Amino acid sequence: MKRHSKLLIGVNHTIDEKIASAHSMYEEAGRILLTNPIIATYLQEYQNTITTSWLVMEKTGVVAICTDCAVNTGGSCCAQGIENRFDATLLLINLLLGRSLPASPLDPTCCRFLGEKGCLLIARQTICVNYLCKRLQDELSRDQLLAVMETNERECDLNFRLEEALKACLFHI
Ligand code: SF4
Ligand code: SF4
Repeated sequence: MKRHSKLLIGVNHTIDEKIASAHSMYEEAGRILLTNPIIATYLQEYQNTITTSWLVMEKTGVVAICTDCAVNTGGSCCAQGIENRFDATLLLINLLLGRSLPASPLDPTCCRFLGEKGCLLIARQTICVNYLCKRLQDELSRDQLLAVMETNERECDLNFRLEEALKACLFHI
């Protein structure tokens, strides 16, 4: 692997360049990364945390409210341009967790990663995880909001630690 060059694909590159970089890193280093004990442990912990986040969002009603919003009012939060906040490492995490990255947008007026049934990614940007729109703030109780915020924070924290571990690991491959 050519050290550094792929890690330099950051937020200022186009989403197509970042997706290509993530695929390239996955092809060249995916097997090594998946068998690295530190990365493997982080990936497992991260996946578990994401599963818990979705359970909390289902239990508190976030999933039902967002589904209603998307189906009945067209939704409004997965807007075009949010994909540009992703870097190649976060996209690589999606590949390591078994997700595919779309070759083209389903709807060019929306985020590149929005599929027919919602977000195609498992590892998402902090802004996607933390976003609580006015409707959610109005319809959820204080305890529900706190539960969602707590689990979201854990997810974002693990995301950060996993990304840092991956960058350190890729630097030495
Ligand atoms: S976060 Fe708010 S705007 Fe986005 S889908 Fe859910 S309810 Fe709709
Ligand atoms: S949740 Fe997914 S589809 Fe929505 S803005 Fe974030 S990455 Fe895009």
